[in-house]
Amino acid sequence: MGGGIIAWAVLVGLLVGCRPASPPWPSPATFDATNAYRHVIELVAFGPRPSGSEAARRTADYLAAELGAVGLEVEVQEFHAATPRGPMVFRNVIGRTRAARGPVLLVGSHYDTKWLPQIHFVGANDSGSSTGVALELARVLREQRNLWFVFFDGEEAIYDYGPQDGLWGSRYFVEQLRATGRVRDVQALVLLDMVGDADLTITLAPNNTPALLDQVFRAAEALGYRRYFQFVPHEILDDHVPFLLAGIPAVNLIDFQFGSAPGRNDYWHTAEDTLDKLSVRSLEIVGQTTIQLLGQLRSAVRR
Ligand SMILES: [Zn+2]
Repeated sequence: MGGGIIAWAVLVGLLVGCRPASPPWPSPATFDATNAYRHVIELVAFGPRPSGSEAARRTADYLAAELGAVGLEVEVQEFHAATPRGPMVFRNVIGRTRAARGPVLLVGSHYDTKWLPQIHFVGANDSGSSTGVALELARVLREQRNLWFVFFDGEEAIYDYGPQDGLWGSRYFVEQLRATGRVRDVQALVLLDMVGDADLTITLAPNNTPALLDQVFRAAEALGYRRYFQFVPHEILDDHVPFLLAGIPAVNLIDFQFGSAPGRNDYWHTAEDTLDKLSVRSLEIVGQTTIQLLGQLRSAVRR
């Protein structure tokens, strides 16, 4: 009988262990934008970090170390692919918070920079800004359950986007979700890209999940940031597209008006994409809105 009681206690313990209570969702105010900016400085210091480069490998190591340092379970998803420049190695870096029952929320950012051998392209905004914000989000949200922070390699096309070029990391990540039968576990992907422009306008394209667009506007409104978020009429190709194609709800928070005047995008993929174009405040607006948005999505499931 004693053995039975112990077995029962172990079973109860296991059941409780399966469903650990998530701590309260953090206030958006806990996002420390100076931390995010510090990461951006580190990323830019690696220099140009196109996929397959030594700098990209060092960046992946940095991401893995930072995610591990805040207590996340880290996976480096390494794969090889035949590219227009020959066989290349890619590394997605994934940080996971503790698992529990229920769906998983993904926060994504690419970390590679476009291969532009003619210029010294450090990608402070594209992709330093979103990578810095996502790392700080991982710190703030580390105690929450079922959050995956996914840092994609190879977002940038080596030449031109198409079925054979670009979105290397996100396409592979979604293939792996399919292969492991986990597509249905994912509630949503919130993708961040080019979120540091001092003149911030998050341009929300039609190729996003409509219900998530509504939630983004709700989150921005709740924080008094609605004016920084705008619909645009053209589609934007980014790492969220492979998720949409797999039927996974996804939304891309991207400021695709990164330029010398409002509405222009002339700093994009040029030597002008440097730290001086960014502001800590923009990182803060996007970081806080993402915390608010993820909190809304999480409570929508609990209800
Ligand atoms: Zn880019």
